[in-house]
Amino acid sequence: QIKNANENYFGSYSSFGIHREMISDKVRTDSYRNAILNNPSLLSGAVVLDVGCGTGILSLFAAQAGASRVIAVEASDKMAAVAMQIAKDNGLLWRGSPREGNSPCTGVIRVVQGMVEELDNFKHIQPHSVDVLLSEWMGYCLLYESMLSSVLLARDQWLKPGGAILPDTATMFVAGFGRGGTSIPFWENVYGFNMSCIGRELVEEASRAPIVDVIDSCDIVTNSVVLQTFDLVTMKPEEVDFTASIELESKLNSPENDTTDSRPQTTWCYGVVLWFETGFTSRFCVEMPTVLSTSPYTPKTHWSQTILTFREPIAMAVGKPKVDSSAAVGTDDCPVVKILSRISIVRGAQHRSIDISLETAGI
Ligand code: SAH
Repeated sequence: QIKNANENYFGSYSSFGIHREMISDKVRTDSYRNAILNNPSLLSGAVVLDVGCGTGILSLFAAQAGASRVIAVEASDKMAAVAMQIAKDNGLLWRGSPREGNSPCTGVIRVVQGMVEELDNFKHIQPHSVDVLLSEWMGYCLLYESMLSSVLLARDQWLKPGGAILPDTATMFVAGFGRGGTSIPFWENVYGFNMSCIGRELVEEASRAPIVDVIDSCDIVTNSVVLQTFDLVTMKPEEVDFTASIELESKLNSPENDTTDSRPQTTWCYGVVLWFETGFTSRFCVEMPTVLSTSPYTPKTHWSQTILTFREPIAMAVGKPKVDSSAAVGTDDCPVVKILSRISIVRGAQHRSIDISLETAGI
């Protein structure tokens, strides 16, 4: 089963379209490029391990930044061959590579085809000899199809004590969204016709499974809070699974908005949106730390955001709520002051899938 699932997973990465999509995501690729090229004291002369090199783009940056040796590991045989060709075509393939035959190059990149978990079958590196572990491992909602476990395993086996991981932190955020974040407004008026039955059906479907899509920051109706933080240097592999509780308040309650009387009494929250940031922090990127953000408040990335829709929207108080103790909580008559959510994300039964659960109450 696992083997088949792996074959499908790595098979999907052998399509060039996915690599084009990732490379064209400028927010993503520039963050890595800036972290690698703008921190010369970290990269210069370093032994680098690139976990899941794909086309080898991050290894090429590392070579450009002055790494003395880059081991680029890629499980997909098609992509490993391509990465090798690209390193060679750019004069960056390591001299003495078996595929090189009689035409040695002067480069530093060595491409290894295989899973990083099986790297010890190759005699390319000694345990605990890597200065910088580099990987772009993040999936939708950070953890869907993510390779984080493989990166942590590589860390424990190959990284030097005190060695660097790029990126070295990952943080997940959550905020509540309003009606504009659902399909309802679109279907309400289609060339003047009312198609809202479709909108209602889509919201009902969305309440049963998360959706990966872009949320406009103006559709966010609450503050944004941290759901979970991962420190890639210290975290244990089992900490990939977590449950966390958060509290959300209406965005309009913040002091700077506390001015007019003409505001509505309630704002409806239809669900929560999740996103993540990864940090190339000053712990290792001393010269120039960088953050790669997939927030709705920053330019969009190919990860979009992850949308979890409530079964019923919840009315939230804006300013002082008018309390009617006989009314149902979370309705127009009795809007809630806070939404409490418990969100758990654990690895699913399907290979590399995740199970997300959301419990919500209003107070
Ligand atoms: N580093 C490239 C590609 C990132 S996509 C870039 O930034 O553009 C992740 C890549 O990792 C895919 O090509 C996938 O095939 C590979 N991969 C995933 N898990 C792996 C593992 N356990 N060992 C080796 N490669 C892996």
